[in-house]
Amino acid sequence: MWLSGGRMASVGRQSFGSCFRVLGRRGCNTAAVMPEAAGFEGVSDRSDLQDFSVCSSDSFWAAVARQRLSWIRPFHTVQDCDLSQGRIRWFEGGKLNVSVNCLDRHVHTCPERVAVIWERDEPKSEVKLSYRQLLEMTCRLGNLLRRRGVKKGDCVTIYMPPCPLAVASMLACARIGAAHNVVFAGFSADALAERIRDAQSSTVITVNQGVRGGKVIELKKTVDAAIQSCPTVQQVFVAMRTENPVVMTAKDVAMEEEMAKEDTVCEPAGMDSEDTLFLLYTSGSTGKPKGLVHTQAGYLLYAALTHRYVFSYHDGDVFSCVADIGWITGHSYSVYGPLANGGTTVLFESTPIYPDPGRYWEMVQRLKINQFYGAPTAIRLLLKYGDKWVHKYDRSTLKTLGSVGEPINTEAWEWYHRVVGQGRCPVVDTWWQTETGGICIAPRPADPDAEIVPGMAMRPFFGIKPVLMDTEVYGSSFVTSNDTSGALCIAQPWPGMARTIHNDPQRFTETYCQPYPGYFFTGDGAYRSKEGYYQITGRLDDVINVSGHRIGTAEIEDVLNQCSAVAESAVIGFSHSIKGQGIYAFVVLKKSIDVQEADVTRQINDMASKKIAKYACPDYIQFAQRLPKTRSGKIMRRVLRKVVDSELEGLGDLSTLDDPEVVQEIIQGHHDLL
Ligand code: ATP
Ligand code: MG
Repeated sequence: MWLSGGRMASVGRQSFGSCFRVLGRRGCNTAAVMPEAAGFEGVSDRSDLQDFSVCSSDSFWAAVARQRLSWIRPFHTVQDCDLSQGRIRWFEGGKLNVSVNCLDRHVHTCPERVAVIWERDEPKSEVKLSYRQLLEMTCRLGNLLRRRGVKKGDCVTIYMPPCPLAVASMLACARIGAAHNVVFAGFSADALAERIRDAQSSTVITVNQGVRGGKVIELKKTVDAAIQSCPTVQQVFVAMRTENPVVMTAKDVAMEEEMAKEDTVCEPAGMDSEDTLFLLYTSGSTGKPKGLVHTQAGYLLYAALTHRYVFSYHDGDVFSCVADIGWITGHSYSVYGPLANGGTTVLFESTPIYPDPGRYWEMVQRLKINQFYGAPTAIRLLLKYGDKWVHKYDRSTLKTLGSVGEPINTEAWEWYHRVVGQGRCPVVDTWWQTETGGICIAPRPADPDAEIVPGMAMRPFFGIKPVLMDTEVYGSSFVTSNDTSGALCIAQPWPGMARTIHNDPQRFTETYCQPYPGYFFTGDGAYRSKEGYYQITGRLDDVINVSGHRIGTAEIEDVLNQCSAVAESAVIGFSHSIKGQGIYAFVVLKKSIDVQEADVTRQINDMASKKIAKYACPDYIQFAQRLPKTRSGKIMRRVLRKVVDSELEGLGDLSTLDDPEVVQEIIQGHHDLL
């Protein structure tokens, strides 16, 4: 079951003092688990290594950083962090260049290895670029940016769909020491403008038009509209994704034409470890998007290490993360992680159902993909269309399947495992956030044989010490027992974590550091099983209290989604005069199944009381055509809460909403129901 009651068990304080002991086991080869760990004395298996990485964090990260990154100048201090103050600094004294780490060093050893496969929207028209070609593209662009006045410390906004020039733009910024701010190229002009203004960019990089799901999207026009309210913008580089010309203004620069005039060698800037690498605004599921700041060495190291060990990535594998580069998942696992590891990464420009629901699996067959990393929302969507779209294609190259972004409900997990992965590929449910820089909890870090429990993120990554706190009392101490739930915090810093919020350092400390002083507060809830495995139960704001029973909305949704006619659901709590909070469920039915709503209601109530408890039966069920989602595909429960609470004036920031019309449909449906 998802979450056993969700009640807090005994709370106490525990010190991490000297939890690492040399166990002295023989016969295990640590180098086989993780070659970087070969020199750690007394570490003989994965569990020792986990303890070592947490308890001797400085030694662990210093050794890994020396081995995995190429430094211009070595660091003198591994970390200088104080979470209670919001001070997070790693590898100080060190200098490096991220683009050199992602490109040049692989060009020296294997220049013709494919770095990027661009899976264009038009099926079967992929474009491959070798490390040599990507370096040349990056250098030309770096030289162009420099020539046009972009300096170290500037922040360039990138508004492009996933494509090699977008990756080269990110790396060109890194090469010359500018920070980048990638904005998802599906956001409206207003949302883009807000992010450009907050980042104070004077340069924007875009394409004439985007193409997605067979439709042309006028990206350059959106930029034109956005910069009307962005006085800082002085130039816009425009690459040509389609052949259709667009109106160019005095500020616009024809990117490819100008790049062709540049040299293919570009001197990399020597960057301090703690210089900013990029800003990235969160997806905005809960409120106003935050511009999180990630820096050079720590972020790159963490992205590279998690990419290699969470997915068991081996040299020569083809890795495919289908997230857009506008999200942190695209940053860490389409770009920085794979490239730092000299891997081959697929950039996916299309949608899971274009030209048909077999798109992902046809791509897997054609590109011989080994690791596939996607979101539960897409899995739930494809599941609706049935197995035949999967069976049509050869998936024998697949070795690992990953999930990220939301809790993956049982039905989706099982379908992904059984149908897509033919029951032989491990499914890794990876938990992390824009704030964490990379994956923090995942089933199999560096252990290809470890047990996997369906729908659980399970084990912390190296250097991560998760703890569960009492959700009722901020500032309290953590729960030591197992089979318990609480607020998920991380007890010590790690190199990949965000350093601050751009322009709002106070919001950073208030949001993440102050609720439980000395700990990083994630805002998510988790359950720790008897075995000590973690399961994310959703955002803490999504926990509801029905007649004194605390229950995660994800737990109820998981059961609802198991009803045969239900495609998707969203559950929220509302104020109830007797129970404290009641349960309101929004349910989307599968298109292919013909059912009466009354029958589904009966089935939902049966399942909820059987699988959870009587109190988990929804008070209201609203059948809807669609649910409001962020552009990254996450359900926006805060909007649903406002509709149910009749607070239509205060729907909040809707700039990240995928389709505003859905909100009207939901409001109408709510009126009809009551
Ligand atoms: P905002 O912070 O602006 O509200 P967001 O939290 O959706 O937006 P992201 O950083 O992209 O922005 O998402 C991280 C969140 O996604 C996590 O805090 C968690 O709630 C959810 N999440 C990510 N991966 C998982 C997972 N494997 N299981 C459950 N939830 C997940
Ligand atoms: Mg968040």
